[in-house]
Amino acid sequence: MTPQDLKKKLGFVNHKSYGMYKELQGEYGFPEYLLCIDHVQGDPFAAPSRVRVRIPGKTHGLKDSWHDTRQKKRAAEDYLLRRFNESIRRFENRNMGSGKSGSITTCRTGQEVLERIAVLFDGDVLEVRMEIGFPARGRTILADELETILFSILPQILQNAFYLRKLDEREMERRIGLAQEQEAIRKQMKEKGLIAFLADGSILPRESGVSERPMKQAVPFSSPESMRVSMELPGGKTITGMGIPQGITVITGGGYHGKSTLLKALEKGVYDHILGDGREYVLTEESAWKVRAEDGRYIRECDISPFIANLPGGQDTKNFSSLNASGSTSQAANVIEGIESKTSAFLIDEDTTATNFMVRDEWMSQLVADEKEPITPFIRKIRSLYEDRGISTVIVVGSSGDYLTVADHVLQMDCYVTKDVTRQAKKIAADIPVPRGQEFPAMVFRKPFTGKMATDKYGDYKIKTGGCDTLILNKETIDLRYLEQIADPGQLAALGAMLRYILKNGWSGRMTKQQAVDAVYRDIEKNGFLSVIPRGYSAGHPVMPRKQELYGVLNRWRR
Ligand code: ADP
Ligand code: MG
Repeated sequence: MTPQDLKKKLGFVNHKSYGMYKELQGEYGFPEYLLCIDHVQGDPFAAPSRVRVRIPGKTHGLKDSWHDTRQKKRAAEDYLLRRFNESIRRFENRNMGSGKSGSITTCRTGQEVLERIAVLFDGDVLEVRMEIGFPARGRTILADELETILFSILPQILQNAFYLRKLDEREMERRIGLAQEQEAIRKQMKEKGLIAFLADGSILPRESGVSERPMKQAVPFSSPESMRVSMELPGGKTITGMGIPQGITVITGGGYHGKSTLLKALEKGVYDHILGDGREYVLTEESAWKVRAEDGRYIRECDISPFIANLPGGQDTKNFSSLNASGSTSQAANVIEGIESKTSAFLIDEDTTATNFMVRDEWMSQLVADEKEPITPFIRKIRSLYEDRGISTVIVVGSSGDYLTVADHVLQMDCYVTKDVTRQAKKIAADIPVPRGQEFPAMVFRKPFTGKMATDKYGDYKIKTGGCDTLILNKETIDLRYLEQIADPGQLAALGAMLRYILKNGWSGRMTKQQAVDAVYRDIEKNGFLSVIPRGYSAGHPVMPRKQELYGVLNRWRR
């Protein structure tokens, strides 16, 4: 259809009842791009209408060399989406009628550079998704207002955000350059056997508990000399910083000296951050898994027997389920599930652990015999987890000296300055009885997982998300509050779609969780992120999560 057809339709529905807006659904070939009205809202207060624009290369003029690798493409799309949001903001404060009349929105962005679908290169076509509140007074259509949006405001927004002639090319190239630097550092981390790198000068603390922006006037990170490494950047520059080697690293120090801040930076270092974040060069092994206690979580058929056995009630801990797990059982499950998700590093902060899961001192062992204690604390398995399984641990410890005896490296945070105190710690640890180490048993995760939803048609699934905390599937609320490495609410939207994708393909009952998760990401690799998102998906703008978070959801879903 042509823009004239659209104008004609607008004239026809003007001042009629809101439902008539549905007539506009369809695709319209504008001279510079294709406008697709994919879904029209039912009333002015409902979720706004979904609109997509496809801008061909000859219109936008953006360079192919900006998106010819997955890494560059992600950075370029991320930057364009941020420009899109800015450009929309400049046209804000329209009052066009009732409810959401006249609003234009798209995917939000945070401090991370993530794969999304809101702005997407499809070959050299740039595909852009947004929501527009179709204007009305009460339920009476205001078609003139919509015409202003579609024929005047939207074209300007698109030009400002996406057309080469309006773009700051150097800024675009800086962002793509950063992405390539991050990729290069990650590669060198693998070569050097590091699980994390924190560049000198990085800003770790955040502005506040609710803002992920960098803290102003923070003490910049500086590496202790003994752990300093250099990284070569593609441009020929080198940067220095602290490399955390594989093995066991304990971070200690007094209260309020910056321990948790350092660990949080590592947790989020699995993602790349934007220019100006302060953590651009704080990078952690991508599969790193935060382990914490999670009182009250749901556990389904998890083998927590390496840590918990011989429960007084005789409950089977090789196949443990609970609707309301305790601190220690939940933390045990989080460790086992991390292993299952093939993580290569655990991140732990004493502040959020169950003490009885972490340690059991000699005095207590003398009073209550080990055979009477169902819990084998993490400290007895930590070395075997590394030596036999290759899983490193970075652990923040303020009060439990026992961990000094099992550490390869001990760092001390002292007024936000990181010091290497390994030697002193080893001297002191010589006097601490070494907790008896135990082998971590070889585990197999071969059982097919089972899950089911009402039917296999998308129309019958209801997926809703609440911030980064809750995913609602049909009637079930999945509590994801303690998956602390979720960085963006859009990842929940994607996780919901991925669950559906797994079920729709009939993988439940036939595949193990590992096989199903791998299959999802294999399909994305092959056919793109969009291939796992159902058409007409409306639970928010999907943002790519890690495999680890998909495990996290599968493990907390009651079905
Ligand atoms: P700990 O875990 O050692 O008790 P935190 O990491 O919670 O300490 O940090 C305590 C406070 O210090 C927090 O409010 C944090 O924002 C602030 N802080 C942490 N690192 C820095 C830094 N490098 N510069 C300035 N303030 C910091
Ligand atoms: Mg702390």
